[in-house]
Amino acid sequence: MRASQFYISTLKEAPSDAEIVSHKLMMRAGFIKKLSAGIYNYMPMGLRVIRKIENVIREEMNRAGAIELSMPVVQPAELWHETGRFDKMGDELLRFKDRHNRDFIIQPTSEEVVTDIVRQDLRSYRQLPKNLYQIQTKFRDERRPRFGIMRGREFTMKDAYSFHTSFEDLQREYQNMFSAYSRIFTRLGLEFRAVAADTGAIGGTGSHEFHVIAETGEDAIAYNPDSEYAANVELAEAMAPAAVRPTAQAELVKVHTPGAKTIEQLAAFLKLSATQTLKSVVVDGEDGIPVLLLLRGDHELNEVKASKLAGVFSPLRFASPTTIRDAFGSEPGSLGPIGFKGRIYADRAVSAMADFVIGANENDYHFTGANLVRDFPEPEFADIRNVVAGDPSPDGKGQLAICRGIEVGHIFQLRTRYSEAMGCKFIGEDGKEQIMEMGCYGVGVTRIMGAAIEQNFDDRGIIWPDSIAPFQIVICPMGWSRSEAVRNAANALHAELLAAGIDVIIDDRDERPGVMFADWELVGVPHRVVIGDRGLKEGQAEYQGRRDTEATKVNITDIVSFIK
Ligand code: ATP
Ligand code: MG
Ligand code: MG
Ligand code: MG
Repeated sequence: MRASQFYISTLKEAPSDAEIVSHKLMMRAGFIKKLSAGIYNYMPMGLRVIRKIENVIREEMNRAGAIELSMPVVQPAELWHETGRFDKMGDELLRFKDRHNRDFIIQPTSEEVVTDIVRQDLRSYRQLPKNLYQIQTKFRDERRPRFGIMRGREFTMKDAYSFHTSFEDLQREYQNMFSAYSRIFTRLGLEFRAVAADTGAIGGTGSHEFHVIAETGEDAIAYNPDSEYAANVELAEAMAPAAVRPTAQAELVKVHTPGAKTIEQLAAFLKLSATQTLKSVVVDGEDGIPVLLLLRGDHELNEVKASKLAGVFSPLRFASPTTIRDAFGSEPGSLGPIGFKGRIYADRAVSAMADFVIGANENDYHFTGANLVRDFPEPEFADIRNVVAGDPSPDGKGQLAICRGIEVGHIFQLRTRYSEAMGCKFIGEDGKEQIMEMGCYGVGVTRIMGAAIEQNFDDRGIIWPDSIAPFQIVICPMGWSRSEAVRNAANALHAELLAAGIDVIIDDRDERPGVMFADWELVGVPHRVVIGDRGLKEGQAEYQGRRDTEATKVNITDIVSFIK
């Protein structure tokens, strides 16, 4: 590649909205260009990095036996109604209508579509297991897009979905993907950690996140330097009891509660008087996770310390109110305050409440007289949310340390949540129809670009790991227009490196050395060769690695073997 032909647009200053180093450097080095909040152009230099990241992922997914396909970015709402996610997903899901007034969404992930494909095509145990993946544009209308493409609204994800005849086989594939992910992040040159993660409704150990360790990470990770233990601090949310359990005291009510928005309506559906016995009711919330509505007059529970409930209900992730009442601002006589489990956070809780009541129209999932602590006891797992460095490790083997991480990958055992809702079945060896077990496996392709920079930079710019550098090596000729000897030598080396399969760019812009060096150091090309008349007389050029403090003289004929 010739720099004069390529698209190079470096900036002296980062835009003022760039808060962290990777965002600043990506903007300054001309990797991305903002179009709108959380929506970026991937400029030619940045796209080269993204393609290399994709290729590493693709190679390792293929090696692990997964099969690539591509699913539409625009998807009809019908499938999303089948799983209930069209209504349940909240504002992150971008919905729109076509000219016929039909509802569509832009995919934030693709469980529905892939399950729809598989339920049509794979009907026999002999066709299973299968692991299907795509590398595709996603859209999530993030409340707070930031850090450039690290938390974009439009971004690229590798998402894979596996289908199995049994839970055992799902677990085998989960391990297989765990290993593939470890290989991917190692090849990408990242310092990472796999941590036990929030599984929402799934529970247990069925989910891991892969985090790039960086100060600017949005997640806190508690880990034990002396053992394997590592968990996302948000994990405690997921560790609450996953299923609604009736107890002797809590009466199970077999009703639907469609459309109930007020306590009176809800009570009417439950065939109770609001003032009578209905102090609290447990309904099924998002993902089938129990939701406890603490109703009017239930002041005892209203005053329960937020920190105590935090182990049971997840929204308590807000600034630091002392009681549930502080958190939700309950007025006497109003519906609420409420506790949730699942991924609903305090800032959305009040508006989400109405959705929950509306969504709580399943049979057999309603309790009256439920008592939070008695019927839904403290989680069996350690609540590590308020953990500090030096606290005992939950595995009993020493002390915890805390670091910050950027979530670049996430693997899940979905089990039958989607396959059941969508009737994704197969005929087993015994001739009987069964629901498929499913797993899903995501990697944030474009996020990795930012995460890699967070780990690899200095005051001059980015320092790319070789595997994902936009160019592996730059040739900087001194006096391009002035010296024919330099031009010839530079062109010959360029051709030789290309022939050796090395990704090389030659800077033929005829810029001053200072400008050239500053540009390539900012861009982060890991190897640089300077060719000048003086060195050429001895057949030499100057080589400098991006992390080296000075240049080394190298015979031009040795450069290819030197780089390889
Ligand atoms: P986060 O906790 O950062 O919001 P998530 O848990 O919502 O991420 P997943 O649904 O697990 O994300 O999606 C799989 C992967 O996609 C994530 O591990 C992450 O690397 C990437 N990803 C998710 N949201 C974004 C985003 N807004 N911008 C860029 N990458 C993202
Ligand atoms: Mg998210
Ligand atoms: Mg997450
Ligand atoms: Mg995740």
